[in-house]
Amino acid sequence: MNHRLIDLRSDTATCPTPKMREAMAEAEVGDDSSGEDPTVNELLEKASALFGKEAALFVPSGTQANQIAINVYTQPGEEIIADASCHPYRSELAAASVISGIQYSFVTADRGVYSWKEAEDAFHPTAERAPRSAIVWIENTHNAGGGQIFPLEKIKELYAFSRNHRISLHIDGARIFNAIVASGIGPIEWGAQCDSINFCLSKGLGCPVGSVLIGNKDFIQEARTRRKMLGGGWRQAGILAAAGIHALDYNVDRLSEDHQNAQRFAELTSGIPGVRHVHKTTPTNIVFLDIADTGKSSHEVNDLLKSRGVILSTFGKTMLRAVTHIDISREDVDKGAEALTEAVA
Ligand SMILES: *Cc1c(COP(=O)(O)O)cnc(C)c1O
Repeated sequence: MNHRLIDLRSDTATCPTPKMREAMAEAEVGDDSSGEDPTVNELLEKASALFGKEAALFVPSGTQANQIAINVYTQPGEEIIADASCHPYRSELAAASVISGIQYSFVTADRGVYSWKEAEDAFHPTAERAPRSAIVWIENTHNAGGGQIFPLEKIKELYAFSRNHRISLHIDGARIFNAIVASGIGPIEWGAQCDSINFCLSKGLGCPVGSVLIGNKDFIQEARTRRKMLGGGWRQAGILAAAGIHALDYNVDRLSEDHQNAQRFAELTSGIPGVRHVHKTTPTNIVFLDIADTGKSSHEVNDLLKSRGVILSTFGKTMLRAVTHIDISREDVDKGAEALTEAVA
């Protein structure tokens, strides 16, 4: 398979394995729009139990999970306390403004991480001039923060803060399993420090489609109506849920390999002239590189990489991102680093 492209653009590049496809082919199905798909229900029970919550909802994408959570917790004209590089602000078009009529109140953050004091600075208890704050938003791990883990201790304090003020705390845990594996802190503990959380099945866990949104019964009941409004009331989704169950059983622990590979990629690329690592550490599976000092643009470098069978994603004129995942081996990482060395030379 040496003609295969080494795709380091994102952990969304992962394709279902033969075993996962087998599980999908054998899935019992029903109409999930009416809550009658047995395989979806099995996935939801498994996911809510994992995080110690009452209920869950299976949705097509992380974006939909985020937008549903925002829609349930806010009224138009309210705001979300979040860091300015969070996924809903940077990468979901203006969905939260269009769908829910909200705006953001940004906190000062370091790689996406902030404390309750910073949240307090951004917090507006009532609508006077500023909109009322309705949600404390946490992204874990943090994508733009180079896969940074949001420390549980900080989340505990933020959750205490949000409960004091009777507002909600949501964790966008698209990559929460990367945080779980890297920190050794289990899902129950993260689940106990938020009102709701979502995770992506279609990233490092290797499924073709799907995210799971988890919370208490009332929240999930409301979430179900919003999912329907957004066109997410799908039917025999058990075929996709079967992939999710398989991923939770077999693809979680192996994320540590992705973390080792990302670490290795960071080490192998750290000495390349003109290449600067945007973040000092590689806690999970994401590495951002700034190549400004090579005199080449990110697109030029990526084209040179492509001609060597490797692809990264570009961010603006001088940034590149590499993400390791189930379809990337240690050997691929070595080839990727070698290709980058040549591409910037
Ligand atoms: C990928 C991602 C999402 C949602 O992505 P979809 O492509 O809509 O599934 C949400 N939050 C974060 C942090 C992500 O990285």
